[in-house]
Amino acid sequence: MAEEMQTKNFIEQIIDEDLAEGKYTKIITRFPPEPNGYLHIGHAKSILLNYGLATEYNGQFNFRFDDTNPTKERMEFVQSIQDDVKWLGADFRDEVFFASNYFDEMYEAAVKLIKKGKAYVCDLSADEIKATRGFGSEPGTDSPYRDRSVEENLALFEGMKNGECEDGARVLRAKIDMASPNMNMRDPVIYRVARMTHHNTGDKWCIYPMYDFAHPIEDAIEGVTHSICTLEFEDHRPLYDWVVTELEYEHPPKQIEFAKLYLTNVITGKRYIKKLVEDGIVDGWDDPRLVSIAALRRRGFTPSAIKTFMELVGVSKSQSSVDYAMLEYCIREDLKPTAKRMMAVLDPIKVIIDNYPEDKVEEVEVENNQENPELGSRKVAFSREIYIDREDFMIEPPKKYFRLYPGNEVRLKGTYYITCTDYKVDEEGKVTEIHCTYDPLTQGGTSPDGRKIKGTIHWVDARTAVDAEVRLYENIVDEEKGKLNDDGTLNLNPNSLQILKNCKLEAAFKEAKPGEQFQFLRHGFFCVDSKDSTEEKPVYNRIVSLKSSYKPV
Ligand code: ATP
Ligand code: MG
Repeated sequence: MAEEMQTKNFIEQIIDEDLAEGKYTKIITRFPPEPNGYLHIGHAKSILLNYGLATEYNGQFNFRFDDTNPTKERMEFVQSIQDDVKWLGADFRDEVFFASNYFDEMYEAAVKLIKKGKAYVCDLSADEIKATRGFGSEPGTDSPYRDRSVEENLALFEGMKNGECEDGARVLRAKIDMASPNMNMRDPVIYRVARMTHHNTGDKWCIYPMYDFAHPIEDAIEGVTHSICTLEFEDHRPLYDWVVTELEYEHPPKQIEFAKLYLTNVITGKRYIKKLVEDGIVDGWDDPRLVSIAALRRRGFTPSAIKTFMELVGVSKSQSSVDYAMLEYCIREDLKPTAKRMMAVLDPIKVIIDNYPEDKVEEVEVENNQENPELGSRKVAFSREIYIDREDFMIEPPKKYFRLYPGNEVRLKGTYYITCTDYKVDEEGKVTEIHCTYDPLTQGGTSPDGRKIKGTIHWVDARTAVDAEVRLYENIVDEEKGKLNDDGTLNLNPNSLQILKNCKLEAAFKEAKPGEQFQFLRHGFFCVDSKDSTEEKPVYNRIVSLKSSYKPV
């Protein structure tokens, strides 16, 4: 029991206490994105945290669009955000909440505050309000409209709603404390006049609630118990509490803040990504070098790897950056037992096996994943001409090079031993062709005389090979070299994308489906690019290489 307590994060501890005290009977959490952009890995943390808590406590997870600010919102994001949340596995029962559906209740809530003498209509301009707020320890000054009567306030607020004043001419302010040490409590604006057409409510409203007023009401209406947000809202919590207290909700929700997730070597700032997209440096917001959820999906990440990553990172109140290599570690571990391991040659050289009969074609049985027999095996064609990777051949090898070189014998993965007898080069000395002989007694990768072979290399049968484009990625920026240049622009890694156009894949790749992940033996994990890949011209993304710089503790 004591042990169990220790492994719980601070939010779980708060929930446990609340349950023990009988504050709530059912835990309800929510994820409340503004539909104003793509979701990224940071949002994934919030989604999985809220969904995870709801699941852990047999509660409910609400998915709600926080669409109270029509200027910034674009409905085009509503679908993509839903797709992303679904893909991550956060089940919202196909029930989507919209904050804008609560505009009537929010209006009524404002009227209630006015009736309680807790809100007033103020005619000061935005600049005047700002100028009279005070600074830090210096208190603000009361608005000359602060002591309007309840009747007057009710009439004026109704007038605001009915379009009787210009945009910005009047606001509704909470009557709290102009001397509060917390600036958010100095009579904050809770409603403003703004003639904007809302995607959901059209022109019904010309007044819109401010975030700090709207959000606690949205939570309360849905019966949310724990409203989890990021640290920048810590200073807003007293206002959140004030709103739910003054509105006298029976089981007021509680705001809890945690530290945002930051990753090294990636870009999450919308401003920067927008520029990269506009300048054509990346291929849209789902470019596999980005960490939007759509980009991670396109790159070949799995929801379970992202979930494991979030579990490793944990939740805390202290800000820090997590190494991108840790995310790579998670996808590698995830795919190791589940992805088929197949043969792909990225930089091909043709090998001609001179003593192999010209018309003969064999089928070699190769296991799909040595670590997971459940994945079975497949048949791979083998014939006189094959491709191997350029790095698996050297004319003059250094010591301890056990791959192919003139006179040396290697094992072809899953089949015969071959010995290099000759090679051809072009004018620049680049190897164009290799000649070998094979030993017919070594089929299956062993020899009757038991002679030792140190090198095993992968290969692809030339007759049946699938031509493909393969895209290799590196981090788009390098944290150690500085993410930004002196002039504030991004210090981009010029090698973040390398395109290999002449790759040869074994025939079984013909069956690959968009998004499907594979291990290319000895090269790493790859997936079929869901955007650009076609049957005629397959395109693969490298998700991650096989080697890791990250070691789990
Ligand atoms: P904006 O800059 O447009 O306000 P935002 O990232 O705050 O962007 P929201 O749509 O308001 O976007 O975020 C939805 C939820 O995701 C919020 O609860 C927010 O706290 C959470 N969230 C956003 N970024 C991160 C992050 N980096 N780590 C963890 N949670 C995050
Ligand atoms: Mg926000």
